[in-house]
Amino acid sequence: MQTARYLIVGGGMVADAAARGIRERDSDGSIVIISNDVDEPYTRPALSKKLWTDPDFTEDDNYMNTSTDTGAMIHLGAQVTEVDAEAKTATTTVGSFEFEKLLFATGGQPKTIDLEAGDRVIFFRTFADYRRLAELAGRNLEIAVVGGGFIGTELAAALVQNTTRTTLVFPDDTLGASVFPPDLAESFHRLYADKGVNLVGGTKASGGRVDGDRVVLDCGDTTRTFDAVVIGLGIEPLTDVAEAAGLEVDDGILVDESLQTSRPGVYAAGDVASYPDRILGRQRVEHVDNAKSMGAVAGRIMAGSGETYTHTPYFYTNVFDFGYQAVGTLSSELRTIEDWQEPQTKGTVYYLGDDDRVQGVLLVNLGEGLDDARQILAEDWPHTRADLVGRLPSGDGSSEGNR
Ligand SMILES: Cc1cc2nc3c(=O)[nH]c(=O)nc-3n(C[C@H](O)[C@H](O)[C@H](O)COP(=O)(O)OP(=O)(O)OC[C@H]3O[C@@H](n4cnc5c(N)ncnc54)[C@H](O)[C@@H]3O)c2cc1C
Repeated sequence: MQTARYLIVGGGMVADAAARGIRERDSDGSIVIISNDVDEPYTRPALSKKLWTDPDFTEDDNYMNTSTDTGAMIHLGAQVTEVDAEAKTATTTVGSFEFEKLLFATGGQPKTIDLEAGDRVIFFRTFADYRRLAELAGRNLEIAVVGGGFIGTELAAALVQNTTRTTLVFPDDTLGASVFPPDLAESFHRLYADKGVNLVGGTKASGGRVDGDRVVLDCGDTTRTFDAVVIGLGIEPLTDVAEAAGLEVDDGILVDESLQTSRPGVYAAGDVASYPDRILGRQRVEHVDNAKSMGAVAGRIMAGSGETYTHTPYFYTNVFDFGYQAVGTLSSELRTIEDWQEPQTKGTVYYLGDDDRVQGVLLVNLGEGLDDARQILAEDWPHTRADLVGRLPSGDGSSEGNR
C-alpha cells in the first residue's frame, strides 16, 4: 500500500489548481495525482482557441508544469477504479493508496452520438484530440463540426482560420439563438457565414459511419459526407467512482460550501462538482474560472484552511473578433434587456426571470464589469430597464429583447 497525504483523482485543471492550493499551506505533504490522460495537466481552453490563432503560443507553452512547481507525483495513463471513503484507501491501475484527504477532480467525458471515434471522428476534449485535429486541418479537407455551443463554435472558427473547409451542424435555425437575443444571434450567425463557415442549422446529427477515408453523418432525414467529423456537445460529469464509493451524487458530486462531499475528508471540485453558489444557488459549472478558483480553494481547505468557496465564476469565449464574458444563466427563454454601446458589438445583455430578478449578465467585447454583474445578480429584487441601462459601462442606446 502506497501513501499520499493528498490523493487527487483526475489530472486536469482542477488537479493543477488544487496542488498549488495545497502548497500555499503545506510545503511538503505528499501529493499524488492519478490521471487517465496521457498528458500532464494543460490549459484546456487553448485547445480550441490560442493554439490555433496565436503562432507564438506553442504546444509546450500549454502545459501547466504542475509536478515541477508543486512536487506532485503524477501517474499518467492511470485510472482510479475504487475509493473506500471509510477506510481512506483507493484502488488504482498503479496500485493501492492510503490517503488522508482525497479530491475528486474527474471532470467529464464528451457527450457522444452514434458514431465510433477514430482517426477521422473526434469527440473533442483532450490535448491528444487537439493534436489529431491539427493534423487534419490545413490540408483543404472538408471537416464537419457538430454542435453550436462553445466548443463547436470555437472549433469551427479555429478550423476555418486554418485553411479548412468547415461545416458547422447545429440544432438552432440561427447560430446562438438558444443563448442570445435575436439580433445578436443574427449577427453571430452572419459573422460565421462571412468568415466562410458552411452553416447547417436546424439539424441534429444523430450518428453515422466511417466509409473508407470519408465519414457519413446522419443529419435527420438526410446524410452528409465529410473527410472528418469533430463533435463538441458538452460533457457528462464523471461520477461513477464517487457514486460507487457511496457519495451523494445528483447530476454532479454534491459538495457543501467547504467543497466536502457527503463523506468527511473527501472533496470534489470543478466540472464534476455540484456546489452551493452564494449568489446563484446550487450549480454545476463546466467552465475554467470555476475549475481554477474552486480547485485552489479545495486544495487550501484540504490543507487545513477554514475558508469556504464564495466565488461566483464567470465564463467566456473568443471567436474571430467577437468575445464575451458572462455570469449566471444565458438563455433565450428568459426576457432580455439590452444595453449597447455599439449595436451587437459592444455592450451588455441582462437575462431576467418571470419575477424580474436578473439571472444572467452577458458582457460583449467589454472586458470589464464582471464584479458589477455579480453585484446585480446578488440583488434579490425586481429590476426594470431603467435600473439596468447605463449601469455597466455600455454607454447609450438600449433595447428590450423578446422572450
Ligand atoms: C476545448 C475546450 C475549450 C474550453 N474553453 C473554455 C473557455 O473558453 N472558457 C471556459 O470558461 N471554459 C472552457 N472550457 C471548459 C474548461 O476547460 C473546463 O471547465 C475545465 O478544464 C474543467 O477542469 P476539471 O479539472 O474539472 O476537469 P477536466 O479538465 O475534465 O479533468 C478531469 C480529468 O480527470 C480524468 N479522470 C476522470 N476520471 C478519472 C479516473 N477515475 N481516474 C483517473 N483520471 C480520471 C479525466 O479523464 C480528465 O483528464 C473548455 C473546455 C474544452 C474541452
